[in-house]
Amino acid sequence: MDKEVYLDNSATTAVDGRVFEAMKPYFSEKYGNPSSVHKKGQEARDALEDSREKIAKEIKANSDEIVFTSGGTESNNLALKGLFLSEKKANSGKNHIITTKIEHDSILEVCKWLESQGAEITYLDVDKEGFIDTEQLEKVIKSNTLLVSIIHGNNEIGTVQDLEEVGRICKEKKVFFHTDACQSFTKEELSVKKYNLDLVTLNAHKIHGPKGIGALYVNKKFDLVPLQHGGGHEKSLRSGTENVACAVGFAKAVEISNKQEIEEIRKLRDKLIEGFLEIKDTKLNGPKENRLANNVNISFFGVEGEALETYLEQKGIYVSTGSACQSNKDKESHVLNAIGLDEDELEASLRISLSKFNTEEGVQAVVKEIKEIVGKLRAF
Ligand SMILES: *Cc1c(COP(=O)(O)O)cnc(C)c1O
Repeated sequence: MDKEVYLDNSATTAVDGRVFEAMKPYFSEKYGNPSSVHKKGQEARDALEDSREKIAKEIKANSDEIVFTSGGTESNNLALKGLFLSEKKANSGKNHIITTKIEHDSILEVCKWLESQGAEITYLDVDKEGFIDTEQLEKVIKSNTLLVSIIHGNNEIGTVQDLEEVGRICKEKKVFFHTDACQSFTKEELSVKKYNLDLVTLNAHKIHGPKGIGALYVNKKFDLVPLQHGGGHEKSLRSGTENVACAVGFAKAVEISNKQEIEEIRKLRDKLIEGFLEIKDTKLNGPKENRLANNVNISFFGVEGEALETYLEQKGIYVSTGSACQSNKDKESHVLNAIGLDEDELEASLRISLSKFNTEEGVQAVVKEIKEIVGKLRAF
Protein backbone atom coordinates (compact mmCIF):
# COMPACT_ATOMS: atom_id res chain seq x y z
CA MET A 1 0.00 0.00 0.00
CA ASP A 2 1.45 3.37 -0.83
CA LYS A 3 -0.61 5.38 1.65
CA GLU A 4 -0.49 5.14 5.41
CA VAL A 5 -3.65 3.94 7.11
CA TYR A 6 -3.86 5.07 10.71
CA LEU A 7 -6.22 2.89 12.73
CA ASP A 8 -5.15 3.64 16.28
CA ASN A 9 -7.49 6.53 16.99
CA SER A 10 -8.33 5.34 20.50
CA ALA A 11 -4.72 6.04 21.39
CA THR A 12 -4.78 9.48 19.83
CA THR A 13 -6.07 11.29 16.77
CA ALA A 14 -4.61 13.69 14.23
CA VAL A 15 -5.24 17.35 15.04
CA ASP A 16 -7.85 18.72 12.61
CA GLY A 17 -6.48 21.51 10.41
CA ARG A 18 -9.23 23.89 11.56
CA VAL A 19 -8.26 23.21 15.18
CA PHE A 20 -4.62 23.99 14.44
CA GLU A 21 -5.60 27.23 12.67
CA ALA A 22 -7.77 28.31 15.60
CA MET A 23 -4.89 27.74 18.02
CA LYS A 24 -2.17 29.57 16.10
CA PRO A 25 -2.95 33.20 17.11
CA TYR A 26 -2.64 32.22 20.78
CA PHE A 27 0.97 31.25 20.21
CA SER A 28 1.76 34.48 18.37
CA GLU A 29 -0.04 37.84 18.63
CA LYS A 30 -2.61 36.80 21.25
CA TYR A 31 -0.12 35.59 23.83
CA GLY A 32 -1.53 37.39 26.87
CA ASN A 33 -1.93 35.87 30.32
CA PRO A 34 -5.64 35.48 31.10
CA SER A 35 -4.97 36.69 34.65
CA SER A 36 -3.62 40.06 33.45
CA VAL A 37 -6.15 42.86 33.77
CA HIS A 38 -4.97 44.75 30.69
CA LYS A 39 -6.35 44.38 27.19
CA LYS A 40 -3.79 41.79 26.15
CA GLY A 41 -4.73 39.64 29.11
CA GLN A 42 -8.45 40.10 28.65
CA GLU A 43 -8.22 39.00 25.03
CA ALA A 44 -6.80 35.68 26.24
CA ARG A 45 -9.35 35.53 29.08
CA ASP A 46 -12.20 35.97 26.60
CA ALA A 47 -10.87 33.14 24.42
CA LEU A 48 -10.51 30.89 27.46
CA GLU A 49 -14.02 31.58 28.72
CA ASP A 50 -15.51 31.22 25.26
CA SER A 51 -13.82 27.79 25.01
CA ARG A 52 -15.12 26.79 28.43
CA GLU A 53 -18.64 27.67 27.35
CA LYS A 54 -18.47 25.60 24.17
CA ILE A 55 -17.26 22.54 26.03
CA ALA A 56 -19.86 22.97 28.79
CA LYS A 57 -22.64 23.25 26.25
CA GLU A 58 -21.73 19.91 24.68
CA ILE A 59 -22.47 18.08 27.96
CA LYS A 60 -25.36 20.37 29.02
CA ALA A 61 -23.36 21.87 31.88
CA ASN A 62 -22.79 25.47 32.97
CA SER A 63 -19.49 26.95 31.95
CA ASP A 64 -18.49 27.67 35.57
CA GLU A 65 -18.59 23.92 36.17
CA ILE A 66 -15.74 23.20 33.74
CA VAL A 67 -12.15 23.05 35.05
CA PHE A 68 -9.36 22.87 32.49
CA THR A 69 -6.67 20.28 33.23
CA SER A 70 -3.72 18.77 31.38
CA GLY A 71 -5.80 15.85 30.10
CA GLY A 72 -7.85 12.80 30.95
CA THR A 73 -5.33 11.43 33.40
CA GLU A 74 -5.24 14.60 35.47
CA SER A 75 -9.03 14.95 35.38
CA ASN A 76 -9.43 11.40 36.70
CA ASN A 77 -6.88 12.10 39.44
CA LEU A 78 -8.56 15.35 40.45
CA ALA A 79 -12.02 13.80 40.48
CA LEU A 80 -11.22 10.81 42.66
CA LYS A 81 -8.46 12.15 44.90
CA GLY A 82 -10.06 15.57 45.18
CA LEU A 83 -13.37 14.14 46.35
CA PHE A 84 -11.81 11.55 48.66
CA LEU A 85 -9.60 14.17 50.35
CA SER A 86 -12.51 16.56 50.67
CA GLU A 87 -14.60 13.95 52.50
CA LYS A 88 -11.62 13.04 54.67
CA LYS A 89 -11.24 16.69 55.63
CA ALA A 90 -14.95 16.93 56.45
CA ASN A 91 -14.73 13.72 58.48
CA SER A 92 -17.82 12.36 56.80
CA GLY A 93 -16.74 8.75 57.20
CA LYS A 94 -17.46 8.14 53.52
CA ASN A 95 -14.47 6.35 52.06
CA HIS A 96 -15.96 3.70 49.77
CA ILE A 97 -15.58 4.03 45.99
CA ILE A 98 -17.22 1.74 43.46
CA THR A 99 -15.65 1.38 40.04
CA THR A 100 -15.27 -1.38 37.42
CA LYS A 101 -12.64 -3.89 36.36
CA ILE A 102 -12.43 -2.32 32.90
CA GLU A 103 -11.42 1.25 33.73
CA HIS A 104 -8.52 3.09 32.14
CA ASP A 105 -5.28 2.84 34.14
CA SER A 106 -5.68 6.46 35.21
CA ILE A 107 -8.65 5.33 37.31
CA LEU A 108 -7.32 1.95 38.43
CA GLU A 109 -3.95 3.30 39.54
CA VAL A 110 -5.60 6.19 41.40
CA CYS A 111 -7.86 3.67 43.17
CA LYS A 112 -4.87 1.57 44.12
CA TRP A 113 -3.20 4.62 45.64
CA LEU A 114 -6.38 5.68 47.42
CA GLU A 115 -6.55 2.22 49.00
CA SER A 116 -3.17 2.93 50.56
CA GLN A 117 -4.71 6.14 51.95
CA GLY A 118 -7.59 4.39 53.65
CA ALA A 119 -10.15 4.15 50.86
CA GLU A 120 -12.21 1.02 50.30
CA ILE A 121 -12.66 0.16 46.62
CA THR A 122 -15.15 -2.21 44.99
CA TYR A 123 -14.39 -3.28 41.43
CA LEU A 124 -17.54 -4.31 39.59
CA ASP A 125 -17.44 -7.34 37.30
CA VAL A 126 -18.54 -7.07 33.70
CA ASP A 127 -20.23 -9.62 31.46
CA LYS A 128 -18.74 -11.15 28.29
CA GLU A 129 -19.47 -7.98 26.32
CA GLY A 130 -18.11 -5.65 28.99
CA PHE A 131 -21.36 -4.42 30.53
CA ILE A 132 -21.70 -3.90 34.27
CA ASP A 133 -24.68 -5.37 36.10
CA THR A 134 -26.65 -2.46 37.55
CA GLU A 135 -28.32 -4.82 40.02
CA GLN A 136 -24.90 -5.72 41.36
CA LEU A 137 -24.13 -2.01 41.57
CA GLU A 138 -27.23 -1.38 43.66
CA LYS A 139 -26.32 -4.20 46.00
CA VAL A 140 -22.77 -3.01 46.73
CA ILE A 141 -23.71 0.58 47.62
CA LYS A 142 -23.38 0.97 51.40
CA SER A 143 -23.77 3.70 53.99
CA ASN A 144 -20.12 4.73 53.59
CA THR A 145 -20.20 4.76 49.78
CA LEU A 146 -18.96 8.08 48.49
CA LEU A 147 -18.63 7.71 44.75
CA VAL A 148 -19.47 5.53 41.77
CA SER A 149 -16.96 5.93 38.91
CA ILE A 150 -17.77 4.15 35.66
CA ILE A 151 -16.12 4.53 32.27
CA HIS A 152 -18.62 5.59 29.60
CA GLY A 153 -17.14 4.09 26.41
CA ASN A 154 -14.41 1.53 26.92
CA ASN A 155 -11.11 2.29 25.18
CA GLU A 156 -10.30 -1.33 24.33
CA ILE A 157 -13.54 -3.11 23.49
CA GLY A 158 -15.87 -0.15 22.88
CA THR A 159 -18.59 -1.09 25.37
CA VAL A 160 -20.86 1.89 26.08
CA GLN A 161 -22.43 1.66 29.54
CA ASP A 162 -25.98 2.71 30.36
CA LEU A 163 -25.13 5.85 32.31
CA GLU A 164 -28.75 6.89 32.58
CA GLU A 165 -29.55 3.85 34.69
CA VAL A 166 -26.38 4.24 36.78
CA GLY A 167 -27.24 7.89 37.34
CA ARG A 168 -30.73 6.97 38.47
CA ILE A 169 -29.32 4.54 41.03
CA CYS A 170 -26.74 7.05 42.28
CA LYS A 171 -29.37 9.72 42.73
CA GLU A 172 -31.68 7.38 44.58
CA LYS A 173 -28.89 6.14 46.87
CA LYS A 174 -27.42 9.64 47.27
CA VAL A 175 -23.89 8.85 46.12
CA PHE A 176 -21.75 10.92 43.77
CA PHE A 177 -21.35 9.80 40.17
CA HIS A 178 -18.26 10.21 37.99
CA THR A 179 -17.62 9.02 34.47
CA ASP A 180 -14.48 8.89 32.35
CA ALA A 181 -15.86 9.97 28.97
CA CYS A 182 -12.60 10.42 27.04
CA GLN A 183 -13.58 7.87 24.40
CA SER A 184 -17.28 8.60 24.17
CA PHE A 185 -17.12 12.41 24.13
CA THR A 186 -18.85 13.78 21.00
CA LYS A 187 -19.58 10.20 19.89
CA GLU A 188 -22.31 9.32 22.38
CA GLU A 189 -24.96 11.40 24.08
CA LEU A 190 -23.51 12.79 27.29
CA SER A 191 -25.72 14.99 29.42
CA VAL A 192 -24.80 15.76 33.01
CA LYS A 193 -28.44 16.56 33.73
CA LYS A 194 -30.03 13.50 32.16
CA TYR A 195 -27.43 11.17 33.69
CA ASN A 196 -27.23 12.91 37.09
CA LEU A 197 -23.48 13.26 36.75
CA ASP A 198 -21.39 15.07 39.37
CA LEU A 199 -17.99 14.67 37.75
CA VAL A 200 -17.02 14.04 34.12
CA THR A 201 -13.57 13.51 32.64
CA LEU A 202 -12.93 14.79 29.12
CA ASN A 203 -9.89 15.34 26.93
CA ALA A 204 -9.08 16.83 23.55
CA HIS A 205 -6.63 14.53 21.83
CA LYS A 206 -9.12 11.70 21.26
CA ILE A 207 -11.36 14.06 19.26
CA HIS A 208 -8.83 15.68 16.89
CA GLY A 209 -7.77 18.31 19.41
CA PRO A 210 -4.31 18.87 20.88
CA LYS A 211 -2.63 16.62 23.43
CA GLY A 212 -2.05 17.94 26.93
CA ILE A 213 -5.45 19.45 27.62
CA GLY A 214 -8.55 18.06 29.22
CA ALA A 215 -11.40 19.16 31.40
CA LEU A 216 -13.21 18.04 34.48
CA TYR A 217 -16.88 18.85 34.92
CA VAL A 218 -17.45 19.53 38.61
CA ASN A 219 -21.03 19.88 39.78
CA LYS A 220 -21.43 23.23 41.52
CA LYS A 221 -22.88 21.61 44.57
CA PHE A 222 -19.67 20.29 46.07
CA ASP A 223 -16.04 21.04 46.85
CA LEU A 224 -12.97 19.17 45.73
CA VAL A 225 -9.58 19.46 47.38
CA PRO A 226 -7.15 20.68 44.70
CA LEU A 227 -4.10 18.60 43.86
CA GLN A 228 -2.13 21.59 42.64
CA HIS A 229 -1.91 24.74 44.78
CA GLY A 230 -0.77 28.16 43.69
CA GLY A 231 -2.25 31.33 42.26
CA GLY A 232 -5.85 30.19 42.49
CA HIS A 233 -6.58 29.65 38.80
CA GLU A 234 -9.62 27.66 37.72
CA LYS A 235 -11.54 28.59 40.86
CA SER A 236 -8.57 27.37 42.93
CA LEU A 237 -9.13 23.82 41.71
CA ARG A 238 -6.15 23.82 39.40
CA SER A 239 -3.56 26.55 39.85
CA GLY A 240 -1.21 27.44 37.03
CA THR A 241 -1.46 29.79 34.05
CA GLU A 242 -4.06 28.36 31.75
CA ASN A 243 -3.10 26.72 28.45
CA VAL A 244 -5.10 29.15 26.32
CA ALA A 245 -4.07 27.89 22.89
CA CYS A 246 -4.92 24.29 23.75
CA ALA A 247 -8.22 25.31 25.38
CA VAL A 248 -9.14 27.11 22.15
CA GLY A 249 -8.15 24.02 20.15
CA PHE A 250 -10.15 21.75 22.45
CA ALA A 251 -13.26 23.90 22.03
CA LYS A 252 -12.79 24.04 18.26
CA ALA A 253 -12.56 20.25 18.11
CA VAL A 254 -15.84 20.02 20.01
CA GLU A 255 -17.48 22.66 17.86
CA ILE A 256 -16.67 20.96 14.56
CA SER A 257 -17.58 17.46 15.74
CA ASN A 258 -20.82 16.26 14.20
CA LYS A 259 -23.22 13.36 14.21
CA GLN A 260 -23.00 12.69 10.51
CA GLU A 261 -19.28 12.05 10.68
CA ILE A 262 -19.84 9.65 13.54
CA GLU A 263 -22.41 7.75 11.46
CA GLU A 264 -19.92 7.51 8.59
CA ILE A 265 -17.34 6.10 11.01
CA ARG A 266 -19.89 3.61 12.30
CA LYS A 267 -20.50 2.37 8.74
CA LEU A 268 -16.77 1.88 8.20
CA ARG A 269 -16.56 0.03 11.53
CA ASP A 270 -19.30 -2.35 10.45
CA LYS A 271 -17.59 -2.96 7.11
CA LEU A 272 -14.39 -3.83 8.94
CA ILE A 273 -16.19 -6.20 11.29
CA GLU A 274 -18.07 -7.82 8.44
CA GLY A 275 -14.88 -8.28 6.43
CA PHE A 276 -12.96 -9.74 9.37
CA LEU A 277 -15.69 -12.17 10.32
CA GLU A 278 -15.45 -13.66 6.83
CA ILE A 279 -12.08 -15.00 7.94
CA LYS A 280 -12.66 -18.31 9.69
CA ASP A 281 -11.90 -18.81 13.40
CA THR A 282 -12.34 -15.17 14.21
CA LYS A 283 -14.15 -13.62 17.15
CA LEU A 284 -15.33 -10.09 17.80
CA ASN A 285 -14.48 -8.96 21.33
CA GLY A 286 -16.96 -6.59 22.96
CA PRO A 287 -20.59 -5.94 22.11
CA LYS A 288 -22.44 -5.71 18.79
CA GLU A 289 -24.89 -3.12 20.10
CA ASN A 290 -23.98 -0.16 22.29
CA ARG A 291 -20.47 -0.12 20.98
CA LEU A 292 -18.35 2.97 20.29
CA ALA A 293 -18.72 3.95 16.64
CA ASN A 294 -14.98 3.77 16.03
CA ASN A 295 -13.99 0.59 17.88
CA VAL A 296 -13.19 -2.88 16.55
CA ASN A 297 -11.52 -5.48 18.75
CA ILE A 298 -11.05 -8.87 17.21
CA SER A 299 -9.20 -12.14 17.76
CA PHE A 300 -7.87 -14.17 14.85
CA PHE A 301 -7.27 -17.54 16.49
CA GLY A 302 -3.83 -19.03 16.01
CA VAL A 303 -2.32 -15.68 15.07
CA GLU A 304 -0.49 -13.52 17.57
CA GLY A 305 -1.85 -10.00 17.64
CA GLU A 306 1.64 -8.62 18.02
CA ALA A 307 2.93 -10.46 14.96
CA LEU A 308 -0.02 -9.14 12.99
CA GLU A 309 0.60 -5.62 14.24
CA THR A 310 4.22 -5.78 13.08
CA TYR A 311 3.31 -7.12 9.64
CA LEU A 312 0.68 -4.43 9.22
CA GLU A 313 3.14 -1.74 10.26
CA GLN A 314 5.42 -2.77 7.40
CA LYS A 315 2.50 -2.12 5.07
CA GLY A 316 1.90 1.32 6.57
CA ILE A 317 -1.12 0.24 8.61
CA TYR A 318 -1.14 1.26 12.27
CA VAL A 319 -3.24 -0.73 14.74
CA SER A 320 -2.86 -1.72 18.36
CA THR A 321 -2.75 -4.77 20.56
CA GLY A 322 -4.56 -3.97 23.78
CA SER A 323 -4.45 -0.33 24.80
CA ALA A 324 -1.56 1.94 23.94
CA CYS A 325 -0.86 2.53 27.60
CA GLN A 326 -0.15 -1.12 28.10
CA SER A 327 1.64 -2.14 24.98
CA ASN A 328 4.97 -1.08 26.46
CA LYS A 329 4.46 -3.11 29.58
CA ASP A 330 4.65 -6.85 29.52
CA LYS A 331 1.19 -7.10 30.91
CA GLU A 332 -2.02 -8.65 29.70
CA SER A 333 -5.00 -6.43 29.06
CA HIS A 334 -7.08 -6.26 32.24
CA VAL A 335 -10.11 -5.47 30.08
CA LEU A 336 -9.87 -8.58 27.90
CA ASN A 337 -9.22 -10.55 31.08
CA ALA A 338 -12.34 -9.13 32.69
CA ILE A 339 -14.58 -10.21 29.79
CA GLY A 340 -13.25 -13.74 30.17
CA LEU A 341 -10.99 -14.21 27.16
CA ASP A 342 -8.68 -17.21 27.48
CA GLU A 343 -4.93 -17.02 26.90
CA ASP A 344 -5.16 -17.84 23.18
CA GLU A 345 -7.96 -15.37 22.50
CA LEU A 346 -6.05 -12.70 24.39
CA GLU A 347 -2.85 -13.19 22.44
CA ALA A 348 -4.74 -13.20 19.17
CA SER A 349 -6.50 -9.90 19.81
CA LEU A 350 -6.15 -6.71 17.83
CA ARG A 351 -7.71 -3.29 18.40
CA ILE A 352 -8.56 -1.21 15.37
CA SER A 353 -9.94 2.25 16.02
CA LEU A 354 -11.24 4.58 13.35
CA SER A 355 -11.62 8.33 12.89
CA LYS A 356 -13.23 10.68 10.40
CA PHE A 357 -9.98 10.67 8.44
CA ASN A 358 -10.33 7.01 7.49
CA THR A 359 -11.82 6.17 4.11
CA GLU A 360 -13.77 3.32 2.58
CA GLU A 361 -10.81 2.65 0.31
CA GLY A 362 -8.40 2.45 3.26
CA VAL A 363 -10.71 0.16 5.18
CA GLN A 364 -11.15 -2.23 2.23
CA ALA A 365 -7.39 -2.32 1.73
CA VAL A 366 -6.88 -3.21 5.39
CA VAL A 367 -9.39 -6.05 5.25
CA LYS A 368 -7.68 -7.44 2.17
CA GLU A 369 -4.24 -7.12 3.75
CA ILE A 370 -5.34 -8.79 7.01
CA LYS A 371 -7.00 -11.66 5.15
CA GLU A 372 -3.73 -12.34 3.38
CA ILE A 373 -1.50 -12.00 6.41
CA VAL A 374 -3.71 -14.11 8.67
CA GLY A 375 -3.69 -16.84 6.04
CA LYS A 376 0.11 -16.71 5.78
CA LEU A 377 0.71 -16.65 9.53
CA ARG A 378 -1.67 -19.55 10.06
CA ALA A 379 0.09 -21.58 7.37
CA PHE A 380 3.31 -21.54 9.43
C1 LIG B 1 -6.86 8.52 26.68
C2 LIG B 1 -7.68 8.21 27.86
C3 LIG B 1 -7.36 8.72 29.13
C4 LIG B 1 -6.12 9.52 29.38
O1 LIG B 1 -6.19 10.78 28.81
P1 LIG B 1 -4.86 11.67 28.60
O2 LIG B 1 -5.41 12.96 28.08
O3 LIG B 1 -4.03 10.93 27.60
O4 LIG B 1 -4.21 11.80 29.92
C5 LIG B 1 -8.20 8.42 30.17
N1 LIG B 1 -9.28 7.64 30.00
C6 LIG B 1 -9.61 7.13 28.80
C7 LIG B 1 -10.84 6.30 28.66
C8 LIG B 1 -8.82 7.38 27.70
O5 LIG B 1 -9.15 6.87 26.52
